[in-house]
Amino acid sequence: MLRFRSFQICKRTLATHPTPKQQELMARGLPKRAPLPGVTDIVVVASGKGGVGKSTVAVNLAVSLANMGKRVGLLDADIFGPSIPLMMNIHEEPLVDEQNFMIPPVNYGVKCLSMGLLAKQNDAIIWRGPLVMSAVQRLLKGAVWAPVDILIVDTPPGTGDVHLSLAQNVPISGVLLVSTPQKAALEVTLRGAQMYRKLGVPIVGLAENMGHVICGSCQSRMEIFKNVTDIFTKQIDIKVLASIPLDGNITECCDNGIPSVIKYADTAYAKSYRQLGETLVRTLETKGLVNDKQ
Ligand code: ADP
Repeated sequence: MLRFRSFQICKRTLATHPTPKQQELMARGLPKRAPLPGVTDIVVVASGKGGVGKSTVAVNLAVSLANMGKRVGLLDADIFGPSIPLMMNIHEEPLVDEQNFMIPPVNYGVKCLSMGLLAKQNDAIIWRGPLVMSAVQRLLKGAVWAPVDILIVDTPPGTGDVHLSLAQNVPISGVLLVSTPQKAALEVTLRGAQMYRKLGVPIVGLAENMGHVICGSCQSRMEIFKNVTDIFTKQIDIKVLASIPLDGNITECCDNGIPSVIKYADTAYAKSYRQLGETLVRTLETKGLVNDKQ
């Protein structure tokens, strides 16, 4: 077995918006894409803004699905700010097989790959569009994912090159949106959802994060914001799959590489992830998303 060391860092300006060529692709629609061998469903976790908990949701959802007995992969496609290695406590470079395919390391029952495992720790990751796209392709298609029931893909905020590259390269079963229940985050996230729909990629629904807290003694729910999630999601017909409470222990868990659904398995927080996982699996199994193309 060899260590994987072939990525080059290119310090050039970063393309954050779809180029005219990419916009043309959105107008024309996607080419036919072959499934990833041995991977049943690919679910992309996306949000319009950073800091709303997208990576936290990707990690805890992946671990919850693995706890439910699913075979799970977690691909960190946040090329610019990879956080999955820290949150999943995986730090070794992936091994490669004889065909030079990367073998994703496993922790908490989840196979993981991230640019953070390939780029050296102190390298600045500033890439231009085409390199970003080839990095995403390499992580997707240059690895031995099989057998996996659900491959969760964590993405950077917005709808830039990474998102387009994913949609162009593999058939995405559905996009799971993550947002806090406030206008500033919802508006931009749901606008991003429309881009996926234009490409014919279904939206699974929205995971609302950090909108409420659960009282530790009486278990009652207290809203933090004036919650506007329903107003926004109903406008473009997106289902809210779960409401994940704000919990003061989460950040410490993320920083220590222990997913909170493991460390605090008996809390309302972990329960909301089980609900999210079950709803997601049900939707994927019943192929409830096939007719979602708008
Ligand atoms: P994003 O991927 O959207 O940038 P992160 O997953 O990195 O967001 O989360 C941003 C911050 O919010 C992190 O410090 C994380 O620990 C914290 N966080 C995420 N979800 C929750 C939650 N439900 N309760 C408390 N803190 C949370």
